[in-house]
Amino acid sequence: MRVTTVADRLALVQERVARAAERAGRSPAEVTIVAVSKSFPASAIEEAAAAGIAHIGENRVQEAAAKIPSLRHLPVTWHLVGHLQTNKAKTALDLFDIIHSMDSLRLAEVLSHRAERALPVLLEVNVVGEAGKFGFSPQEALQAAEAVARLPRLEVRGLMTVAPLTRLRRAEEVRPIFRDLRRLRDALGLPELSMGMTDDFEVAIEEGATLVRIGRAIFGERQTPGGNP
Ligand SMILES: *Cc1c(COP(=O)(O)O)cnc(C)c1O
Repeated sequence: MRVTTVADRLALVQERVARAAERAGRSPAEVTIVAVSKSFPASAIEEAAAAGIAHIGENRVQEAAAKIPSLRHLPVTWHLVGHLQTNKAKTALDLFDIIHSMDSLRLAEVLSHRAERALPVLLEVNVVGEAGKFGFSPQEALQAAEAVARLPRLEVRGLMTVAPLTRLRRAEEVRPIFRDLRRLRDALGLPELSMGMTDDFEVAIEEGATLVRIGRAIFGERQTPGGNP
């Protein structure tokens, strides 16, 4: 069978998620698929929602602002998964239900100040200290989680990481990174672990991911430079 529609691809992804969970002795219900729709049009998000996706991720506020307002009728939760500049905090708060990419205390303070309701957030951790990448170091994470948790309206739900793009994109190479993030999350006693993308979500699930952020495997290859993280 030729797989061409979002619904077909999603069915395959769901199957792979379920198998990865079972390999790890977990229930597939513990893993939430966040369909990352960056660079894809609103119509693709409509398709994903019609196929049963309940969580949509975008990585840029500007792009999201062009799509989300026309999709408010969909029964989906909106996740911001990319870096947020403090000057776009207010717009982001109007668009998104949860922020995976809380990557500085400054951003946390601005969001706390601007939010008019409880806002679930995940702390982004740069596990291997890649240069030029956003996020707290593992050493900073504990203090940061405590500091953010003290801010009004912010609810720290867990940790998020974007694994390095290994040259061969071999998922096994990132397993130790996922394992480290899980240990850190366990030490903090938090429920959520956002890790795993198209090339490595099965390994991430085996290592405990509760949220996997999947773009290409659901929507197809990106034609326009939607920007890999
Ligand atoms: C684009 C993106 C994803 C999804 O990437 P795919 O490789 O298309 O699955 C996940 N997380 C973040 C932060 C992204 O920017």
